[in-house]
Amino acid sequence: MTKPNLPPDLYGAPLGLETNLVHGGILRSQFAETSEALFLTQGYVYDSPEQAEARFKDESGGGFIYSRYANPTLAMFEERMKLLEGAEGARATASGMAAVTAALMCFLKAGDHVVAARALFGSCLYVVQDLLPRFGVTSTLIDGRDLDAWRKAMRPNTRACFFESPSNPCLDLVDIAAVSKIAHDGGALVVIDNVFATPVYQSPLKLGADVVVYSTTKHIDGQGRCLGGVVLGSDKYIKELHTFYKHTGVGMSPFNAWIMLKGLETLSLRVHAQCASTAKVADALAAMKNQGVTRVLYPGRPDHPQADLAKRQMTGGSTLVAFELAGGKAAAFKFLNALKIIKISNNLGDTKSLITHPATTTHQRLKPDDRAALGISDGLLRLSVGLETPADLITDVTEAVKAAVG
Ligand SMILES: *Cc1c(COP(=O)(O)O)cnc(C)c1O
Repeated sequence: MTKPNLPPDLYGAPLGLETNLVHGGILRSQFAETSEALFLTQGYVYDSPEQAEARFKDESGGGFIYSRYANPTLAMFEERMKLLEGAEGARATASGMAAVTAALMCFLKAGDHVVAARALFGSCLYVVQDLLPRFGVTSTLIDGRDLDAWRKAMRPNTRACFFESPSNPCLDLVDIAAVSKIAHDGGALVVIDNVFATPVYQSPLKLGADVVVYSTTKHIDGQGRCLGGVVLGSDKYIKELHTFYKHTGVGMSPFNAWIMLKGLETLSLRVHAQCASTAKVADALAAMKNQGVTRVLYPGRPDHPQADLAKRQMTGGSTLVAFELAGGKAAAFKFLNALKIIKISNNLGDTKSLITHPATTTHQRLKPDDRAALGISDGLLRLSVGLETPADLITDVTEAVKAAVG
């Protein structure tokens, strides 16, 4: 196999995002294929017992051992993600939840403590609230928007601060630089779930975070096909993760890694187009504020409660918008039943626009009081905007609002 075909500083300066998304990390085989090869292999053969011995002794010396440890198609995807994120290391996982679980469990041990923002993806909440405590890792959940709450929750044994920004489903933001400072002063690592911002609009490592996780199921595949995840961080951290990873088998399938590589090639185009449409749909919803829409939450709008922070740490809005209808669950369901183009689904980041009613789906498990504390009212809807013609989406939501409140 040849080396990655473009040195990262080809013309004396880092290559652009889109160039890396297309060329980054390619390992060409002896056939010199243009498109990345899909290596569906469990194992690798050695020229000699001496070579096998050497490879087991020092995995960093190049060459592969077993696809639970590493695989060339995954290696290409991981290298491309590293370039995109500016990370020293990356490991691709079977799903976003495998990424979150491995990212935390690879370094936490009994007696440690985690501070996490309460506004978390449902399964992340399970990991922090139910799973980690079974292994003696305690946690404190706080309002991630409140820096004093982060400061107060820190204990001498706090080893991780974990959050999403923007969060699901209300698109609240956490000040990444400020929380990183608080965490580091207390000797903790910052682990951030960057799914909603995407690597196109937010670079948490540059803001001070230590570890970034993605569900690549979302914008990185971007076309609703495969589950996947990735964890990115320093060489030192990824080494620790690698030990956990290779022995517990949380890795991504090579087939899915190949799909993700192809997804990355168009990531920037898709995310920019979807974000531009989301801004238009958000404006159309906001224009109906006295006609049935009570709240519009979009980080790209000046009326977002944390608009200044959005400007400081994000380079774009998001491909998601949350909004609330007057009339609670009945109005929300009427709205959903009236939609013709936008599909009802709890997934997001797809080329197809998808909408969900968090109170009865993704956040059904929460107690009503906890839902209220997160701003998830019965009239709240979360829309993931796809690649359809924006005017069609605006007509779809406008007609559905009329149907819901009429
Ligand atoms: C979807 C999602 C996950 C979980 O990812 P899977 O690929 O479904 O396991 C975690 N965090 C966020 C913010 C997500 O949107």
